[in-house]
Amino acid sequence: MSRLLKLLERGNKPPFHLYTSQLPYTATVSSIQRLTRDGQVSHIVIDHGGNVPFWEGQSYGILPPGENSKRPGTRHPYHLYSIASSRYGDDLSGRSASLCVKRAIYVDPQTGEEDPSKKGVCSNFLCDCKPGDKVDLVGPFGKLMLLNESNPSDSHIMVATGTGVAPFRGFLQRLLEDKMRPRKFEGSAWLFMGAPTAGRLLYNEEFERYARDLPWSFRYDTALSRESCNKRGGRFYVQDRMEEHGEEIFKLLDGGSHIYFCGRKDMLVGVEAVFEEVARRMGEDWRGKLAKLKKNRQWHVEVY
Ligand code: FAD
Repeated sequence: MSRLLKLLERGNKPPFHLYTSQLPYTATVSSIQRLTRDGQVSHIVIDHGGNVPFWEGQSYGILPPGENSKRPGTRHPYHLYSIASSRYGDDLSGRSASLCVKRAIYVDPQTGEEDPSKKGVCSNFLCDCKPGDKVDLVGPFGKLMLLNESNPSDSHIMVATGTGVAPFRGFLQRLLEDKMRPRKFEGSAWLFMGAPTAGRLLYNEEFERYARDLPWSFRYDTALSRESCNKRGGRFYVQDRMEEHGEEIFKLLDGGSHIYFCGRKDMLVGVEAVFEEVARRMGEDWRGKLAKLKKNRQWHVEVY
């Protein structure tokens, strides 16, 4: 193991805020791949030369180039993007990080037409990058979504919508593929993933491969909101899939499992309503249970 790789396993605190808006690190785009047929979501691999180490579940801040029109004379502020690879990166070098970025577009509510003058600055900058382009990084940031590795037999339940799957791709690389981990993973990981259609399930082939090759370590359940209906006749969201496994999820949580949520802000409202219903069926008090999960640091949320 090289010195750099040893460094990535050392210490009990994650790297934090190594680069700032005033002194960002200029990294280079290694590759970019469209993840959806409409080109809206991209997987972007960034070479940071080993200078911006991070832990799974952290985010980078990206400073898009150009002047902030709202504050003339200043740069655009940075936007956060969850890192979608393990600390070693997709190439296992410890010198790269991957991002999963969705273009923010603006659709005029009056005309229903896209208005390119109002498209999101940072996401479109990233999705338009080409290999060799420079990207200013700030960070890494984030302590809320760190993968809890204190016990290698723990179970981890991950709930994602859209690009919210990014940190979980990093978690799964770490748990299921990483040979550098000090202790082998002996627990279980379960990913619930929501998307509008099958074509928008990000990294689906990778997750299906894990589920096929490592069924004792990994379970994968999806919910396609525009392709199926829930029992109330509405769209089938990720919480509807979780409701089907409600009792099992509660048992895992009672046994100390960690649960992580990442993605759309509104997902938690639906999940909590479903958990409340499961608790009622099981004769439990959901509010009390949630308070206990938070107190025990089993409940991890990053929504945007
Ligand atoms: P902005 O330029 O900030 O614009 C925001 C929105 O306003 C856009 O929809 C834009 O179309 C609209 N808008 C612009 N001008 C106007 C106007 N005049 N009138 C009306 N509307 C307008 N995103 C990801 O894709 N992947 C991730 O992994 C990810 N991780 C995140 C992690 C965290 C912890 C957080 C907080 C956020 C994360 N995000 C992620 C979201 C990301 O940080 C950005 O918020 C997102 O990409 C939009 O930024 P932008 O610069 O493209 O849009």
